Parts: sequence; C-alpha cells; structure tokens
Amino acid sequence: MKRATVVGAGFTGLVTSYFLVKKGWKVEIYEKSRVGGLIGTVKTPNGPVETAANGILCSALLEEICKDIGVELQPMHAKSFKFNLLAKIRYSSRYFYFKKLRRMPLSFFGLLAFLYGFVLGKLTNSLKPNRLENLWDWSFRNFGSEFAERIISIAPNGIYASSPKMLSAHLVVGRHFSKDKALPENIKTSALRGTVSPKNGMAELIHKLESYLQKNGVRFLKKEFELRKPSDEAVIVCTNSQNAAKVVEHLDKDLSARLQKIELLPLVSVTVFFQPMPKQIVGFGTLFGPAEGFHSLGVLFNSDIFSERNAKRSETWILGGDLNREVVDLSEKSILTLVAEDRLKLCGYEQSPLAWHISKWPQAIPKYSLDLERHLPNLKSKVPRLHLNGNYLGSIGLGQIIIQSEKLVLSLTEKP
Ligand SMILES: Cc1cc2nc3c(=O)[nH]c(=O)nc-3n(C[C@H](O)[C@H](O)[C@H](O)COP(=O)(O)OP(=O)(O)OC[C@H]3O[C@@H](n4cnc5c(N)ncnc54)[C@H](O)[C@@H]3O)c2cc1C
Repeated sequence: MKRATVVGAGFTGLVTSYFLVKKGWKVEIYEKSRVGGLIGTVKTPNGPVETAANGILCSALLEEICKDIGVELQPMHAKSFKFNLLAKIRYSSRYFYFKKLRRMPLSFFGLLAFLYGFVLGKLTNSLKPNRLENLWDWSFRNFGSEFAERIISIAPNGIYASSPKMLSAHLVVGRHFSKDKALPENIKTSALRGTVSPKNGMAELIHKLESYLQKNGVRFLKKEFELRKPSDEAVIVCTNSQNAAKVVEHLDKDLSARLQKIELLPLVSVTVFFQPMPKQIVGFGTLFGPAEGFHSLGVLFNSDIFSERNAKRSETWILGGDLNREVVDLSEKSILTLVAEDRLKLCGYEQSPLAWHISKWPQAIPKYSLDLERHLPNLKSKVPRLHLNGNYLGSIGLGQIIIQSEKLVLSLTEKP
C-alpha cells in the first residue's frame, strides 16, 4: 500500500487526503493549529459567520465528493426564484462601484468594444495572455480602455486584493484560455451552478471531510511537521507558501528561498449584522476599485446569497490587500469605523449594527504577481517524493483547489 504524509489540514490538505484515500493510499495528516485552516464557521445568535470563504464554485466533482461524505449543498438564494426572472436577477446581481453603484459599468460603446475585442481575440487567438503580461495591459490590448478602467481596475482589486498592473494576466485569467484537455469532463456538468455552500456553513464541509478521513483510517497528528531527512513515503506540503518554505528549508534550500519570495497579502473579513431595511441594496455584493475612495475591497450581502443566512441582514466587508496592508494591525474599533464610513457612502444612510465578528488574516492569500508567474515553473522540489500543493500554485478559489489536488493525486498514483 502506498503511504503519504500530508502537511496541513486546511481545505487543500483535506481534499488532497480525500483523493489519496480514494486511490487506496494510507495517509497521515499533520496540523499545527486548527483543522480547516482559514476556513471556519462561527455560530452566532444572528446567524453564521464565515471566517474566510463563504461559498464555493460548484462542479460535478464537488457534488460527487459532497454526496460521498454526506454534505448537502445549497444553491444561491436567487435560484429559488424559478419563474421570477426579475427577482432572480436582483438577488444574483454583482455590482461594480464606478462613480456610483452599477450592475453594468460599461457604456453601450464600451460593451461593443468588449464584444468586438472578444470575437476578434477568439478568431486571432490573442485572448491568451502573453508571458509576463500584466492584467491591465492584457485587458487594454484585447478590449480597450473602458473595459480596463471600469472592470479590470475594479474586479481584481476586490477578488485578488491587488492592482491589475501588479497582477499576472496568466495567473488570473490564463486558465480560461488554456487548451488544457486534462480537465476532467465532470467539472462542467454539475446539477447546481454558480456559488454553493453546505447548509450549515463552510465548516460543515471541513468537519465532514475530517470525519470521512478518520473513518477511512487517516491519522490526524496535532503538531508542526518538520522535514529533517528524505522520507521513504510521499510528503505533500499543503500549507501556504511561507510555511512550505519552512517545512522544506533543511532539505531543499533553493526551493525554500523561492517559496519565501512569494508575497502573501493580509486581509480582514468583517461580518456585520443589521435589522433588515425596506430599501436596502439587494444582490450578491459589490466590488470597489482603489480610485473610488473606499477603505474596503468589496462587500458580500450574505443574507441575499444564501436563504439560510437571511433572518437578519448579514454583510461581510473585506479590507486590506496590497494597497492597505496596515489594516490588519488596527483595533476592532478602528476597523468598524472604516466599515461604517464605507457603508454610509454605499447605502446613503447610517444604521447601528446588531453585532459583528472580525477575522484578521496577516497572511491571507498569495499575490498573483508577475514574480509568482516567473517563479512558478521552478516551484518543484529536487528531493524525491516531496510535493507541494496550495493556492499559490494555481488558483485562490476552492473549486480550482479541488481540481488541482485531484490532478496531483492522479499523477502520484500513476507513478510506479
Ligand atoms: C477572507 C477570505 C475570503 C475568501 N473567500 C473565498 C470564497 O468565497 N471562495 C473561495 O473559493 N475561496 C475563498 N478564499 C480563499 C480560500 O479560503 C483559500 O484559498 C483556502 O482556504 C486556502 O486553503 P489551504 O488549505 O490551502 O490553506 P490554509 O487554510 O492556510 O491551511 C493550511 C494549514 O496548514 C497548517 N500548517 C502550516 N504549516 C504547518 C506545519 N509545518 N505543520 C503542520 N501544519 C501546518 C496551518 O496551520 C493551516 O491549518 C478566501 C480567503 C480569504 C482569506
């Protein structure tokens, strides 16, 4: 029987272990802190609070795993308005703040320029980002200035917490234009679409994965893993890049140095509960560009996204990132003041919160920079049987982490 040690019981470590178990491996997981890593659901009298991811992009592969481990996925609230198209659009609306709140920030001519650029790009095969091309240049080259200014200067700031001139187009949008036929077919054909979540919040997925693994003989060791000598079995390091650098430093100094160079951006997630108001903004959430004068990168309207979370108005404001790193060192009171200022600017009225919960992540997500794109091909260990897995290798989203983990396990299993 093949054996593996998995380092880290965050989402990446747990799904990697799941696929290993499915292929008949004997697995041990080391976790130095808490199972789930960034992901957790805090139960409060006003409703659940997610400490990091609040949902996951659905795929048939996710549905398959959830069926296997006994997790029921709930679709977005908007899906429940089957025959009411207007309500469906309202509840799934993603807003961009460009001078004001907009569902569609492009003008008629901006939209035409985008469509023209898209069709031309498809025909001439120019949509694929060039090597070391930043996201701003890529969007400007393909879709013109309005798309770059009104979409690309806003959306990546909210999602990747950095400016489009600092981000690698290849890392952020490259996979949509790749001809990678190795993707399993079942990724595309899920029963549910878009963002989904377990009924009891994201922690349910973590707990059910953990108990499934335990039932299938996986041993969890609550301690920090250190790699001092080459191992006879596979060691898969499923931590963030800085922790991975520490794990491999005794055996592979070059790899450790390259991992250390990957920048991690801080994020603060602030969930605030309010009494519902008759004229509140309804939708999935809003993204803010750095030019609009908000402290936050974006806000999610949790109570509109999932119906189980809508007894009270629940919003999650995300602050920090590349341009506002110090926010993670501020007191709770100062952070709440920033959120209150942003909310007043967005909604136009003041409202006292019923309750709040703040999660601070000094090393939240990797910066998908040109430097990371440059280092990525060299992030392989020369130590036999030592492997890396994590969001710095491909994508921040949990849906992509599942695909990446399955691919890694398939490649290890196929090796003699
Ligand atoms: C605020 C926020 C919101 C997000 N929202 C979304 C979203 O809505 N949808 C989405 O898809 N994604 C979202 N993400 C991204 C997603 O949550 C992360 O990409 C994912 O959770 C990372 O999981 P991981 O297991 O790779 O890392 P981690 O969660 O960091 O887990 C790594 C684990 O390794 C352990 N570890 C480290 N070193 C060692 C060692 N030497 N020995 C033993 N254990 C060790 C750590 O203690 C930790 O538990 C969000 C992230 C943040 C911060």
